[in-house]
Amino acid sequence: MQFLKGLKKDIRLTWRGLYTRILKRHFGPFAKRRRWLQETQYYDAERLRQVQLELLKYLVRHAYETVPFYRRYMQEHGFRPEDIQTLEDIQRFPILTKADLKREGEGFVSTRFHPRRMRTVHTGGTTGATLPIRRDLRSIQNEHAFLRRQFDWASVRMGDRVAYLTWRRVAAPNEHERLYAYDAAWKELHLSTIHLSEATIEPYAETMRRYRIQALNAYPSAAFFLAKGLLERGRTLPLKAVLTTSETLSPSQREVIEKAFMCRVFDYYGSAERVCAIQTCEHGSYHIIPEYGLTELLEAPGPNEGCRRIVATGFWNLAMPLIRYDIGDLVKPREGVCKCGRAFPMVERIVGREGTYIQTPSGRVLGAMAIEYILARVLYSMYNLPILEGQIVQESDNHLVLEYVAMNTFTEEHEQQLRSLLREEVPSEMEVSVRRVDRMRQSVSGKHLSFVSTEHH
Ligand SMILES: [Zn+2]
Repeated sequence: MQFLKGLKKDIRLTWRGLYTRILKRHFGPFAKRRRWLQETQYYDAERLRQVQLELLKYLVRHAYETVPFYRRYMQEHGFRPEDIQTLEDIQRFPILTKADLKREGEGFVSTRFHPRRMRTVHTGGTTGATLPIRRDLRSIQNEHAFLRRQFDWASVRMGDRVAYLTWRRVAAPNEHERLYAYDAAWKELHLSTIHLSEATIEPYAETMRRYRIQALNAYPSAAFFLAKGLLERGRTLPLKAVLTTSETLSPSQREVIEKAFMCRVFDYYGSAERVCAIQTCEHGSYHIIPEYGLTELLEAPGPNEGCRRIVATGFWNLAMPLIRYDIGDLVKPREGVCKCGRAFPMVERIVGREGTYIQTPSGRVLGAMAIEYILARVLYSMYNLPILEGQIVQESDNHLVLEYVAMNTFTEEHEQQLRSLLREEVPSEMEVSVRRVDRMRQSVSGKHLSFVSTEHH
């Protein structure tokens, strides 16, 4: 029975994998973009600026011709696409925030694409606010080429087997067996992140060995927990590389991960809005990827230890071009040139995203992104729930509270739906409840966190 169930999981994942593989790699710009990126990475600074300017001009013209918000803005402020002649001219555009995106809604969506030729993802980012992001198919393929180059830098080749401890749901929260699924199309082993606990460390490592896994792609909190557990048992699991993403990686996490997997960690950063990418090269430096977008590092408010905020323009997502978008994340810039020979700008570290995790009574670990994902499923999987914002607060070891800001049309019945949805997503050993609030509580930095743990603040 268990065997058949597992097989079914693999087939389902592989089937889906085949579909996304065709979508991402074939019949589109992937191969071309990949070759291009292999060349452009060694352009000098001046040539990179030229590339950026060409891409920016194209983007602005496209925005002017097909995006209502930008057309209106440029007309009202008396400039046209041909007025953008240098990279600095981008400052004629306003800085956008998530709130602007939410207010304008479809105003940022290009009229060039038929709705069926776009994909919509719902992102909370760190604000917890519903935000549909549209992407066109070509941008998905281009994105994949950028990601592949990060894997190249980590010496993980296209055919290598990679294990994932990220957002993919491969087992229901209350399942205890077969907490993984294998995607044969991508050669990816997906392990259930929300089931990661003291009890699953050995089985996960064993599964990775059995599938002859060569690299791991994980949330830092998940990779760290697995690594620490292995070392505590006097074990290691040699890999080619560990790639981490979506949460802040701390130096001590990096050290433990590198020790347990006997390889280097390549941390990378991206945004659902597709405006900025930061990746780690062979020499361990964080590089801002210039062919991906135009990234401005602007002054950050408040005391911030030399950190700057990321305001970025993505070149590739033409379905929803965002010019000068304030992601809400901070980085610490770094001067100098990297030994790898690329003229890409560098940052010392990425401060932006919280790496906090919560531990359930039995020792399962839910990282910030896992929580984010639960929240996303709860709030965004139901379009008809009249909710503005939400966040999860851990009030005690075994109690999670979902706080939400409701719209006027919110009823008792909606609350019932919300409660049962939350119950379905959160491991059963945690108690859950929902609480209506007037506004989201603020964290110390004045930023909304979709996940607040009162234990850790
Ligand atoms: Zn480098």
